[in-house]
Order: sequence, then C-alpha cells, then structure tokens
Amino acid sequence: MIIKSIVLKTASRCNLNCSYCYIYNKGDLSYQKQPKFLSKKLATKLLERVLSHMISNDLNTFVIVFHGGEPMLYGLQYYEFFINEYKRIFAHNPEKRIEFSMQTNGTLLTEENVTILTDLGIKIGVSMDSTKESNDNNRVYHNHRSSYDEILSGLKIVSRITGSSGILSVIDVAYSPEKSYDHIKQTQVQFMDLLLPDETYDSIKEYDIRGKLGEWLCEMFDLWFHDKETKPNIRFFHAMIQVILGMGVGFDPFGKNYGDTIVVESNGDIQTNDGLRSCKNGITITNLNILFNELAEIKDNPLGNLYINNHFSLPYICSKCPLESVCSGGYLVNRYSSKNGFDNESVFCKDMIKFISHVQNTLVKLLNDDLGLEPMDSKEIIEYVDKLKNERIPKPELMSF
Ligand code: SF4
Repeated sequence: MIIKSIVLKTASRCNLNCSYCYIYNKGDLSYQKQPKFLSKKLATKLLERVLSHMISNDLNTFVIVFHGGEPMLYGLQYYEFFINEYKRIFAHNPEKRIEFSMQTNGTLLTEENVTILTDLGIKIGVSMDSTKESNDNNRVYHNHRSSYDEILSGLKIVSRITGSSGILSVIDVAYSPEKSYDHIKQTQVQFMDLLLPDETYDSIKEYDIRGKLGEWLCEMFDLWFHDKETKPNIRFFHAMIQVILGMGVGFDPFGKNYGDTIVVESNGDIQTNDGLRSCKNGITITNLNILFNELAEIKDNPLGNLYINNHFSLPYICSKCPLESVCSGGYLVNRYSSKNGFDNESVFCKDMIKFISHVQNTLVKLLNDDLGLEPMDSKEIIEYVDKLKNERIPKPELMSF
C-alpha cells in the first residue's frame, strides 16, 4: 500500500466552531499545541518529501488537500508561495504532478480569492450541512451566529468562477431526507459527499442516532437514485453501488480499500486520519515529523498501520459477517470504544446492514437477474450478526488503543 495523498493542515485554527468538529469539540486537545500556521520552511520540506516519496514509489500523481482548521485564514500569498515552491522543486521531474485542492468552510471566499486560487490550479471544496437549519445549529461562529449565508455565498462564487462546485456534509438525521435533498438540489452542486457522524461507542450515549441513521440513508438514497432530473454525484451512494456491483473498492466508510491518505499537521508532524481524534484525546499523536521522517513511516505507527489496513484488519464479528466484503467493518472511528479499542463492529452496524441491503435490493429490482445479485433480508442478517456476538473472540492487536 502506497500513500497517495496528504491532508495538509496549513492552519490549525478556525473562524467557526462547528458542534461536531473532531478537531476542537470531540475531546482531543492536541490542536492547542500546534502552531497556528504551517511555516514556509516546513512547506518546502514537505514538497521535497513528497517528491522523494513519489520517486521511491514510482508514483506520477499525488494529491495535497489544504485543510485546517480553516485554510483560508492563511493569506493568499502563502498559497502563491506554496505553488511556486512546488514548480521549483518539481521542475526537473515534469512527469510527476501534484493535484491541489482546498477544503474550506467557505465563509472567507470572495470573487478575488477564488479567482486567484483557481488560477493557481487549486480546486475548492466547501463544507456545508445539507439543510439551512442544520447549518444554523451546527456550523456557527464562536459567538454562536450561523455561518449559513456566508457559506452559501462562497459556494455560489466557486460555482460561478469555476463552473462547478461540491460540498462535504456531515449527516444530520434531525432533518428529513426530503428537506435535505431539496436543499442540496437548490444549491445546484455537481458533487457531494456525505460523512458518517464521528461517533464511537463512548460518545453515542449522548445522542443516540442508531436506527435513525439507516432509515435516513435509505430514504435519501431513494430520493437521489430515482431522481430523473440533473442531480449531484453523491460519492457515498455512488461508491456503494460500485462496491455491491464489484466495480469499485469503496473508500473510508466501507469497502475493501486501503487507507492511503495521511495528515501533516501545522508543525510538520505526520499523523493518520484525523477523524480518529474523536476516539480519545491525543490518539493520533506520533513521533514522526517531515523534518526527520519519510511519509511512508506512518506504517510503523500502530494507529497509522491500523488505519491503512482497517478494512482488512477486522474484529471477529465483522470477519464472519455476510456483508464483510461490502461493509468491511464500516468507518474506523465508529468501531472505537474505550473498553475494546477498535475490536468492535461499527456502532452503526445495524444501520449499515439496513442501508447495504436496501441498495442491493434496489439494484436487484432494476437489473433483474442480470448480474446474479440476490435479494437481501436485513432482519435475517441482523439476527445472524447478533448471534455472532455470543461467540466473539477478542483480537488483542485491535484492543491496545
Ligand atoms: S458486522 Fe456490522 S459493521 Fe461488521 S461488517 Fe457486518 S455490517 Fe459491517
């Protein structure tokens, strides 16, 4: 498995204070020790590391996502410097290319800065909840004011200047799929991804959405799948169809894929998937830094290694589950408990069974018997998985976190 992308924390602070944010509001405090911005010296070192990583692994393309915190807190001059450094460092290796994008909360986007970022070759993705009400509740400034109007304005600017736009939305089951889908259609985005809530067995007790999540996903899927008009490409649904049809390997929340993305913090530390911060304070901290270590050394870190292999390194119940090849344990964060570490099926196991069965049954109806897909009975699968819990065999290598 080769690392193919970096989520780069150019800024470690944010002008918003979103309720579900895994960096500031899920118990991890490691951001407090991070410098506010990634220095120019570290940016240069990072680009050198990426080039040597690409050469050693015979990679011609690599992805860097500018991320935070809020990456737009850093002035545009920094991104101009970064892209110029990239051109300088990669000048003798024209066959090697980095694709740049930025994931922003959208509030600081203007005609001018979107034009400059686009001219620099940086694609822009906006984080936005799927309804106005959910944004008003969750995506707020530090004074609790909603950021909805500014996000929408930023999204429209991106769409107008680049001719395309995409959003990343944390699923909020408090608002109906109808309302969410209507709102998404109104925004006219071309791309969307749904993020599973970063809940663990420890945190789910505070706001238990088990059961509701599966129903929400099924209803949302139906609205999207049966929509005959122009509709956004929703990665969560598209990838699930591909996995069920054997035409894709999925991504973080399901499927048989390796985690090939690492995080580089604003002090240069190399870490693993930062959603895992929701599990325990400090869990993602490593002793690796781009000043001294190669990117691939993340494989030597126990959590980094688990993240890379999480869809293959499964707890007993998942390894015996009839949906093992599709769900593959679900999203790693959702497997965590302070009691068993990651040696649990997903806290949303039943929701995943319901959703996967629903998508498969929809495809069976559509394709008849053409691809040999069998209808699924989610109740039977849930009963089967429940019985497996009685014969659970602990896996110590998944528990020591
Ligand atoms: S047991 Fe649950 S979490 Fe594990 S693979 Fe099956 S459906 Fe997914």
